[in-house]
Amino acid sequence: MTATIIDGKEVSSKLLESIKKRAKAMKEKPGLAIVLVGNNPASEIYVNFKEKTCKEIGFNCERYNLPEDVSQDELLRIVDDLNQKKSIHGILVQLPLPKQINENLVVDSILPYKDVDGFTPVNLGNLVNDNNVLEPATARACMALIESTGKRIEGKNAVVVGRSSIVGKPVALLLLQKNATVTICHSKTKDLAEHTRNADILVVACGKAKLITKDMVKENAVVIDVGINRVNKKVVGDVDFESVKEVASFLTPVPRGVGPMTIAMLLDNTLMAARRNLR
Ligand code: NAD
Repeated sequence: MTATIIDGKEVSSKLLESIKKRAKAMKEKPGLAIVLVGNNPASEIYVNFKEKTCKEIGFNCERYNLPEDVSQDELLRIVDDLNQKKSIHGILVQLPLPKQINENLVVDSILPYKDVDGFTPVNLGNLVNDNNVLEPATARACMALIESTGKRIEGKNAVVVGRSSIVGKPVALLLLQKNATVTICHSKTKDLAEHTRNADILVVACGKAKLITKDMVKENAVVIDVGINRVNKKVVGDVDFESVKEVASFLTPVPRGVGPMTIAMLLDNTLMAARRNLR
């Protein structure tokens, strides 16, 4: 069997088209503020993509580039200004932040209804309570790509590799809400392959290049690769694409998989935040 490759770029283009149309019908443009601290090359690439796509679909995009040594107080002041700003409906502070800054404190300072990354304790708590408001964009992206296969989620064994608060845990909660039986694996999991081999749906978000190989994947599984790793100047995922495509039924590539879909979901969250605010 050779897996059908899920083209995240194509799925996301359709969503972006629909966001663009819905935004056009609004009396005010949705506004997204993107805050980038320092010059981490990977963060800069992600922010450039987000800014470019935001402008392409006709949103108002404000970008704030702050120096690596910005103080925590200064960053909190900027977030607070954006919280008050009427034309800004979504605020994204690109992570990771430099070590002098308490990341949790900054994320927590974003007003929950402008938290388009879905990372604030309020929005994550809503997810735990099955009362989703703004869901983390990457987790939403994974769900949309799984749903694009047309396969049922309910009753399936879903395994998530990675337990971060921004990807692993939220995607596990969303799968649980769709009635999958969910297992979360992490760096201290004893026999990873024993769990992954049982997965009808396998979501991998651990940041370890090509960790998941063919022998670790169940025949016909749907495999979603969230990882972004730079190896010899090439970007590769957490899944060994070439071998796993021989056993999976559906597989996302890296790049052109979860990445573009995440950006589309971020902008969909921004549209939702703007609509709620402008009503
Ligand atoms: P993280 O470093 O915060 O968390 C990694 C998780 O993987 C941890 O919970 C850890 O326990 C687990 N892990 C590490 N090694 C493991 C191993 N050998 N076996 C099992 N579990 C292991 O990372 P993150 O922020 O969740 O991101 C994960 C990956 O996803 C990274 O490569 C990141 O670049 C990528 N990412 C991609 C997107 C996107 O839009 N495509 C968005 C966010 C993150």
